[in-house]
Amino acid sequence: MIDVKHLSKSFGEVEVLKDINETIEKGEKVVIVGPSGSGKSTFLRCLNLMEKPTSGDIFFEGENITQANEHEMNKLRQRMGMVFQHFNLFPHLTIKKNITLAPVKLGLMTANEADKKAEELLERVGLPDKADEYPSRLSGGQKQRVAIARMLMKQAPVLVFDDSLSAVDTETDNKIRKELKKEMEKATVIMISHRITSLMQADCIIVMDKGEIQQMGTHEELIHQEGPYKDIYEIQMNSDIRLMEGGAVCE
Ligand code: ADP
Ligand code: MG
Repeated sequence: MIDVKHLSKSFGEVEVLKDINETIEKGEKVVIVGPSGSGKSTFLRCLNLMEKPTSGDIFFEGENITQANEHEMNKLRQRMGMVFQHFNLFPHLTIKKNITLAPVKLGLMTANEADKKAEELLERVGLPDKADEYPSRLSGGQKQRVAIARMLMKQAPVLVFDDSLSAVDTETDNKIRKELKKEMEKATVIMISHRITSLMQADCIIVMDKGEIQQMGTHEELIHQEGPYKDIYEIQMNSDIRLMEGGAVCE
């Protein structure tokens, strides 16, 4: 479904992604882990062309999208729902408007249809009473849920999460996951996450460091290999246990 070939990305002199090669099959659940600054977000942003690769090619359903024009990019982004690390909500728009803006603007839904769907999704993510609030009145976890509702408006076959569940406590995280289960099962999912539950359930874990893929495989495979994954897992295990004991989180 998604083929990444020799993808490199530099910002000025700094090479942030170095010759990344990866194939993601339809329906696959991929989890990316690695230290902060290792290039995880940049990789995801290259996939939907929010960042232009410096070299290499990205194929989406067999089509080389690397040189896509504006129109093709919009089409691609309709097929790829993304929840950003910092949610990217418009501060001057209400929650409902944040959610309905794109589908109405792109002519995919009428304003009425979009409103109705937005209300339904806000209900599902547990924020039915926040439709007319502005983002500044919401907590980090609530903003995150708005960003998830916004993503679900598209009914995209590929769902991309950039550390998107990190601002919510474990209990809310579990609730959202339960709520998203239907969509997640059907979709191709690419997610940056260090949560043990995500890692254990992944079809493929990609371990990144310094712009390179260090290891790739399932949890069972990686846990028995020499490499950074074992340490990441152990550190995360302890942190997840603390979270479960303590409740709220701030990553
Ligand atoms: P991660 O998501 O793994 O924490 P990022 O992909 O956000 O890593 O960042 C990787 C590196 O690229 C970091 O050193 C970061 O400072 C740099 N970087 C990311 N975006 C930009 C940008 N727009 N301009 C310059 N440097 C950037
Ligand atoms: Mg990041």
